[in-house]
Amino acid sequence: MTITLDPVSQPSAFIRALPKAELHLHLEGTVTPQTLSLLSQRHPTPLEPNHNRYKDVSDSGRVLSVDDAHAIYKYTDFGGFLLAFKAVTERMRDPEDYELVTYEMMRQLHAEGVLHAEVYVSVGVVHWRGHEFGPLFEGMERGRQRGEHDFAVSVLWIFDAVRHFGPEEAMIVVNTALKLRKRNVVGIGIGGNEKLASPELFREVYEYAAAEGLRLTAHAGESVGPESIWGAINDLHAERIGHGLHAWQDEELVRELGRRRIAIEACISSNVLTGCCLALEQHPVRRYFDAGLIVTLNTDDPAMFHTTLTREYQLAQDVFGFSDEELTQLARNSFLTSFLPENKKREFLSKLETHSAGLTASQT
Ligand SMILES: [Zn+2]
Repeated sequence: MTITLDPVSQPSAFIRALPKAELHLHLEGTVTPQTLSLLSQRHPTPLEPNHNRYKDVSDSGRVLSVDDAHAIYKYTDFGGFLLAFKAVTERMRDPEDYELVTYEMMRQLHAEGVLHAEVYVSVGVVHWRGHEFGPLFEGMERGRQRGEHDFAVSVLWIFDAVRHFGPEEAMIVVNTALKLRKRNVVGIGIGGNEKLASPELFREVYEYAAAEGLRLTAHAGESVGPESIWGAINDLHAERIGHGLHAWQDEELVRELGRRRIAIEACISSNVLTGCCLALEQHPVRRYFDAGLIVTLNTDDPAMFHTTLTREYQLAQDVFGFSDEELTQLARNSFLTSFLPENKKREFLSKLETHSAGLTASQT
C-alpha cells in the first residue's frame, strides 16, 4: 500500500511568491528518481568492502531505471524510508555527484520561492561507508556557489551525525564541521533511529560543539515520545527541534518549548509517510501554532516524500486552515529562527515585509 496525501490543491500564487526559508532539508533527500537513476549509472559497482561499515552493500552497484528509483521511494514505514535513504547515499560517491545534487536542489528551492535554506548533510554516513568527506565537500561547495550565482539562493550547511552510530562517530562529525566552519558550515544536527540512541549519549558532543561556536539542532520526538525532546532541550541544549511530532503528548513540554522560544521544524508529509504520524489530520502543527510555539514548515526529504515546500504550505492551508496571514507568520518564523547572522536575517525579513506590504496595498 502506498499512502498519498492527495487531494490538496496546487500551491497558490500567494504561496509560491511568499519569500521563505527552509530549515529542515536533507541534501540526500532532494535526489529525484531521475538523478538517482543517473547516479546509479555512474557507479555500477558495489561499494568496496574496505573501510565500509554498512553490513549489506550488495545492492549498492545495481543500475536503476527511473521506474526502479520510483519503486525505492515507495515504502510504508520508517524502516522502508531509511532503506531508501541508504540507496541514495550509497550512490553519492564523488565530488561531482555532490555538486550535481547541490545545484539541482538550489534550482528547486528557487522555484519554490525559497531565499535561504539550512541543509543537513549526512557526514556521519560518509564516514561510515569509508569515504573521505573533504573532497565531497569541495563538490558541494562548487554546486552551492554555482547555485547561488544562478538562482540567488543562500545555503548554509548543517552537518548531521547518525545517532545509532554512537557518540564517537558524532564527535568526528563535529570536528569535521569545525574544520570547515568558515565555509558556510553553521551547525550540527543528529538524525537516525531514535529508538536505538537517546539524546543523553550525545551530551558531551553537543557541549563541545556549542563551546566551539557551532549552532545546534536535533531530530527529536519523531519516532519516539516526548522524552526524546526533553533530552534534546535539557541535555543537548538544541536551539531548534527537528519534527517535535510527539511533544503534544506532554503539555508541560509544549509550555517549556514556548517559554524557551525553541523552534519546531515541522515536516508534515514526512511524518505521515513514515507512519510516525498515524493520520494527516492528527498532525499537531496547528496545535503548536495556536499554543504560541515558533513553528516552521519544511519538507525533510522532498523527493522521497513526494512533496515540495510550497505544497507543505498549501497542505497547512487546506488541511489545517492556516490563513495567508498565518502562512506569512510561518515564513517569518523561518527567517527569525535561521542560523543566519543578524544582518542577513534583517535583509531577508525586510524582503518578506516588503512583499506582504505590496500585497496589502494592492488589495485596498
Ligand atoms: Zn530530517
